[in-house]
Amino acid sequence: MEKRELLYEGKAKALYTTDSENLLVQYFKDDTTAFDGAKKEKLEDKGVINCAISTKIFEFLEKNGIKTHFVELLSPREMLVKRCEIIPVEVVVRNIAAGSFSRRYGVKEGTVLKEPLTELFYKSDELHDPMVCPNHVYLFGWASREELAFMIKEALKINELLKNFFNNVDITLVDFKLEFGRYNGEIILADEITPDSCRLWDKSTGEVLDKDRFRRDMGKVVESYKEIYRRIMERYGE
Ligand code: UDP
Repeated sequence: MEKRELLYEGKAKALYTTDSENLLVQYFKDDTTAFDGAKKEKLEDKGVINCAISTKIFEFLEKNGIKTHFVELLSPREMLVKRCEIIPVEVVVRNIAAGSFSRRYGVKEGTVLKEPLTELFYKSDELHDPMVCPNHVYLFGWASREELAFMIKEALKINELLKNFFNNVDITLVDFKLEFGRYNGEIILADEITPDSCRLWDKSTGEVLDKDRFRRDMGKVVESYKEIYRRIMERYGE
């Protein structure tokens, strides 16, 4: 499948049209941003590692009954995906307090939540992704009640699957962000699942292995992403 025209370029990925109107190429860039793009750097090979990690995770989720936009890996930085209509609501699932949750509610980072928590954010760079509640989603028409209920249920199902997936490679899944899209009358998981969009801590040492290394200038960002990929391949690689 050949790439045709650039359809959309985001901070870490780009989407290209293909010969088929139902399929796009999702290209993973090395660009890494934080704080609404205020901090920006190119990290060599990050795109390749994220494309590989996301591929393994989408394949694992598909095997476990989750519908995703993933079709196949085309090259080290490119995956073929279904062209869906992205719903502009980010679903964050949290198992352990960290990041904006810790700041907003004054909960010490690392506090285990008594049950998984879902939060919703409106996907808008201009407005800095404000947190929203279900009523905003219905009022603004971003998704229907049925669609949002499905997204939240699916996000919690994905959380259970991924907690187990990462636990098997000695990694704690702290939190992550999901995006969904409409495709053929269904809601499917879209975007990416990578250390850019998840918080992942080493289970025994608590070492941060995700994008917080970049946000907090901790160094060894790509090295940590590679370590995650190494463990995934050791456990799940063919
Ligand atoms: N996240 C993301 N994209 C966003 C905002 C958050 O992928 O635009 C991910 C983030 O990496 C973390 C989780 O969602 O795994 C929860 O992020 P949080 O709200 O704590 O945001 P922070 O302000 O710490 O980035």
